[in-house]
Amino acid sequence: MIVENLAEVERKICAACERAGRARDEVVLIAVSKTKPVSMIEELLPGGTRDFGENKVQELCEKYEQLPKDIRWHLIGHLQRNKVKYVVDKACLIHSLDSLRLAETISMEAVKRQLTVPVLIEVNVAGEESKFGVSPEETEDLIREIAKLPGILVQGLMTIAPFTADPEENRTHFSNLKKLCVDIKMKNIDNVTMSVLSMGMTGDYEVAIEEGATMVRVGTGIFGERNYR
Ligand SMILES: *Cc1c(COP(=O)(O)O)cnc(C)c1O
Repeated sequence: MIVENLAEVERKICAACERAGRARDEVVLIAVSKTKPVSMIEELLPGGTRDFGENKVQELCEKYEQLPKDIRWHLIGHLQRNKVKYVVDKACLIHSLDSLRLAETISMEAVKRQLTVPVLIEVNVAGEESKFGVSPEETEDLIREIAKLPGILVQGLMTIAPFTADPEENRTHFSNLKKLCVDIKMKNIDNVTMSVLSMGMTGDYEVAIEEGATMVRVGTGIFGERNYR
């Protein structure tokens, strides 16, 4: 079932790339495996899937220990400063950096371990009270401050768009984030590539791709509904 779901998502990604005149290899599909057992992840390994997303540090670390080391683990959930030390050497990309204080902690840990930690800045595109992330207006200033820190590399932006039944409602948010990314990229800030745009989930990844996403994070569409208990 999971393999079939993945094939269906893959087909829709290809179609969205085609509509947008983009190459399929411009978009990385992250299979969001949070709350799902290791056995479900293992079902996808023979087909070549290696990018998996987790939103909790502890769960990421547990799965990291149990699964092959060539898996690329993306930390997509809110990160607390006291958890940074557990995850900096396990995540290939932290999608949820949203404060200078957190960046300073990541930087300190990176320097201590002689690592360079790639990060995305989480932007709250719709100004939702309930969401983490910085406002679009604050984003460039935050990036300029983070760029001065050693051991941390800003690769782009991430957003969690509003939950909506009609993905078209998020199109403007996605295109605004793309614009913001391009604007900041043009400033050529040292240690800032702005090459990654992580946006789009099960409900809206096709629209996100049409608007320039380079990473989409799909959970339910691959693994089925989550049961949080
Ligand atoms: C859970 C989660 C996803 C995946 O959501 P689905 O709607 O199940 O595809 C994507 N991004 C983040 C940050 C998440 O927490």
